[in-house]
This record gives sequence, C-alpha cells and structure tokens, in this order.
Amino acid sequence: MDADVIVAGAGPTGLMLAAELRLAGVRPLVLERQPQRRDTPKAGGLGGQILQLLGYRGLLERLEAACTDPVPAPRFPFGGVHVDLTRLTDPPMHALPLPQPRLERLLEDRAGELGVDVRRGHEVTGVSQDDAAVIVDVRGPDGPYRVTGRYLVGCDGARSRVRDRAGIPFPGTAYPEVNRLAQITLPDTVTVLGNGDLDVPGFGAIRAGFTRTDQGLFGLGASPDSKVVSLYTIEDESTEYDDDTPMTVAELQDSVRRVLGADLPVGEPLRLSRFTFKARQADRYRDGRILLAGDAAHLFPATGVALNAGMLDAVNLAWKLAADVHGWAPTGLLDTYHDERRLAGERTMLHTQAQVALRRGHDPAAEALREVFQELLVDEQPLRRMGALVAGSDIRYPMSGSHHHSLAGTFAPDLTLHTDQGTTSVAELMHTARPLLLDLADRPELRERAQDWKQHVEIHTATTDDRPADVLLIRPDAHIAWATTIDEPADSAVPALREALSDWFGTP
Ligand SMILES: Cc1cc2nc3c(=O)[nH]c(=O)nc-3n(C[C@H](O)[C@H](O)[C@H](O)COP(=O)(O)OP(=O)(O)OC[C@H]3O[C@@H](n4cnc5c(N)ncnc54)[C@H](O)[C@@H]3O)c2cc1C
Repeated sequence: MDADVIVAGAGPTGLMLAAELRLAGVRPLVLERQPQRRDTPKAGGLGGQILQLLGYRGLLERLEAACTDPVPAPRFPFGGVHVDLTRLTDPPMHALPLPQPRLERLLEDRAGELGVDVRRGHEVTGVSQDDAAVIVDVRGPDGPYRVTGRYLVGCDGARSRVRDRAGIPFPGTAYPEVNRLAQITLPDTVTVLGNGDLDVPGFGAIRAGFTRTDQGLFGLGASPDSKVVSLYTIEDESTEYDDDTPMTVAELQDSVRRVLGADLPVGEPLRLSRFTFKARQADRYRDGRILLAGDAAHLFPATGVALNAGMLDAVNLAWKLAADVHGWAPTGLLDTYHDERRLAGERTMLHTQAQVALRRGHDPAAEALREVFQELLVDEQPLRRMGALVAGSDIRYPMSGSHHHSLAGTFAPDLTLHTDQGTTSVAELMHTARPLLLDLADRPELRERAQDWKQHVEIHTATTDDRPADVLLIRPDAHIAWATTIDEPADSAVPALREALSDWFGTP
C-alpha cells in the first residue's frame, strides 16, 4: 500500500482530515490537482462549532493571530433577518474573519508540521476498489501513475470526481440566484454622506443597507470615514459559474446596473466574490472503502456554514478510519460516520433551506414572515436556539447501547479541571485527539474497568466546579460517548461503561 488513507483534495476539509489522521497515527497521502495554493476569495471567515474544536486542538490562537479584521460581534443575517446574539451572555455562535486562502495556508502548514505528504499538481482521474484496497489513478506533473490505499476520502469539492466515480447520487436543487459581494474603494466623484448613503453623480442617492427592487436585492455598507465600501447584489440568474473563476469589477458594475439602474463608478477592489446556492446532499457518505466529506458530500443554500460542516466531517471521520487501519475498530464504527454526519448535514440543510424561504420572497406575505421571525428572535430562548442551530452545536448523535445519559452524543463542554499535577482543561487534554475517560467524582471501580482499554483511552481523575456528570467518556471528536452520575450504582454503571468502551473502542 502506498498510503493508509488517500485524500483527494487539499481544501479545508482535506487538510483538516489529513492532520487529524496524522494525530491518530495514520499515513495519509493528499492529492491536489492545483499546482499552487488558491487565492480565490471564497469564504471570508470561519464560524460555528468548529472553532471550539480547533480550540480543543490548540489551534485557535494561531487562527486568531492570522485574522484580518477584529473578531466581529456575534450577529448574522439569517435569510435576510438580522439575528443579534450580542444580547446573550455566552452566545452559542462565534465567527473568525479569516479569509479562506489564509485558513488553507495555516491548515497546510499544520499538516506539514505533522508530516503529511501533500502532492500538488496531482489530479485524481480514476477510482476503483476491491475488498482490501482502493486503487486511484492520478495525473501528475511527470505523467499518469497509480496509487493504492486502504481507504480513499473524496474531499474534492462540489463537483467531486470521487463521488462521481463511486456512483454516489447527489440529489437536490440549484436555486436560480447569484450573489455578488465586493469590498471596493470609491473614486473622489462619489461622496459617502454622513448617514452612510452614497451620492452618485448623474444618479443621485443610493441608500445604505438593503434595497429590494424588481430585479433583485442591493446591499451597501459605507462609512464617511472610509473610502472602502461593501457592495452586495442578489439576482435571479441560472448561469452555472465555476467557484474558481474570479469575479471581475465589470461583472459587479453590470449587476449593480441591472438591480438598481445606477452606473456606479468604483475604484480598486479589495475583495470580489460570487456565489450561487445549491441544496444537495450525497445519498451515502460511504461506499465500501470510499468516503465523502465537505462540499463533496453537501452543499447548503446559505453562507457561513459550509466550512463548519465540512471540517467537522473530517474530525468525525479521521479517528474512525484510524481505528480501522490500526485494526481495533469495532464492527460498524465506520458506518457511524455516515449516520452521524449525514444527520448533522440534514440539520444544516433544514435551517439553510428555511433561510431560502425567508430571503427569496418578494411579496407582502414574505415581508410578513420576516417580520414575525424577527419578533420571535427578541426573546432569549429562541435566540439561543437559533444560534446553536446555525453553529451546529445542538447536534446530539444517536448512541448505541442500552444506557443513555442526557449528555451522551453531545459535544463535551470545556471544563476547568483540578488534578494532582495542577490545573488543566478538557480543551488541553484533547490536543492529542485521544479518547478520554474523565473521572470527576473519584469512581475507582469505573477507572478500574477502563484499564483494559488504556492502550486506546487516556484515563484522568480530576475535580471540577459544577460537574456535569461523575464520569465522562469522550471520543477524539470531542463528542461524549457515555456518561454516568451518582444515582447510577456501580453494579449497573460498570457493565454500561464496559459496553460503551467496547462499542466505540473495540475489544480490549
Ligand atoms: C464566494 C464564496 C464564499 C463563501 N463563503 C463562505 C463562508 O463565508 N463561510 C463558509 O463556511 N463557507 C463559505 N463558502 C463555502 C466554502 O468555500 C466551501 O464550503 C469550502 O471551500 C469547502 O471546502 P472543501 O475542502 O470541502 O472543498 P474545496 O474547498 O472545494 O476543495 C476541494 C479541493 O479538491 C481539489 N480537487 C478537485 N477535484 C480534484 C481531483 N480530481 N483530484 C485532486 N484534487 C481535486 C480542488 O482543487 C480543491 O483544492 C464560500 C464559497 C464561495 C464560493
């Protein structure tokens, strides 16, 4: 075998997956068709649950240091409705203003530090599999060649060839809508007024904020202190654009002219991007030894969620693949990747499709829907719920076994832990991406039971303020596999822990 796991695509999903595989002691080979790293301005930032996970890997500070702008307040447009989480203490949704090319550079640096082999200019052209291996045909700079691996993961984006070759259907809808976004300077002939409106010679005033016309939606964000403005248009259009084909200034101006009827003189672009919305999800995330993750597995019809979903796919998948490669995966472990991440994708699809309904309606009924929605989000409970839904932090994976604590399947909270060696935290213990058994109430009978798994599972004893359970069994993707409280006596907790350890970490 040339590699344990072959990863097609060095986008954010493929790079995250490769790093996680290395942490789990597996040899990935990343094949990327682009000879150079892309500088196409796709995502302007990263938001949601993945930020907490990156904190659990000790990477958040690095990402924060690379941010272009100050970290924004937790506010976001939900289908055109302004959701303002700043009113909540401890808001459930955060974002980092980290442009995608920077994110990819940091992820590739990290993969390099962990010893990942990333081959640029190597395109996957063909895929086949048998009971023991996947065989991947590659076109490289020196001509075609073939590699074999135990598994292949298609992280090769929306038009995934891996998905295509594996014959996995990708049903869904493409909305006939094109969004264009620019940060651009204005020439001296255009004046930014004190209220943020623009005064355009030969046209008159263009209002700040959103303007709906029969041709679409126009958005303007401007300040009299700055010559850089943000422009946004949405038009109904069914052209199929390639995300890697850059938008031009002329394309932006044509769009503004169609939507507003204004010839808007502009200067130098700082950022130009165009995106279309599709709602598609792969029927299966796994076909034998071939798996899909990221945009290859799902496309959502709203911004700000795709990186979160794709990188969390990678984290969920890596340790399960590694368990299989190392030979200790319990039966069915790899199938839980499809079960869990397809479910998470369905949740993201649910709210992004709701955003389509809110955003695309132009009639009074749609206006009424937006207004009612806005009213509901005044109260703390629905606001908190909406933030968790968008962040993807409300996911509770279905857990096998007979015993279920209410925390089982949820993301482990970052507890401060007091141990004999000093103070640490769940986040710090998760840097190595190893499973953890965390005894927070001195339950020696449970620690003793876990000893048989100590090759795979780290066992820690600690105390914490406000402990959520006596004992937590935490998977490498930071989801809680099992938990118990004082009410559960040892004679049922011990076999239940044994069952959970076997279900997730195999026979000792
Ligand atoms: C304008 C725009 C704005 C966006 N804004 C946001 C945002 O604000 N927040 C957010 O979360 N998401 C945003 N997105 C979506 C986000 O960019 C994608 O979800 C993300 O890039 C998906 O990552 P990925 O690694 O799964 O796929 P990709 O980034 O598409 O990476 C796939 C990689 O595979 C390579 N590849 C393809 N085929 C092959 C092959 N046959 N062999 C080898 N390599 C191959 C490609 O070259 C590419 O490098 C935006 C997208 C666009 C276009």
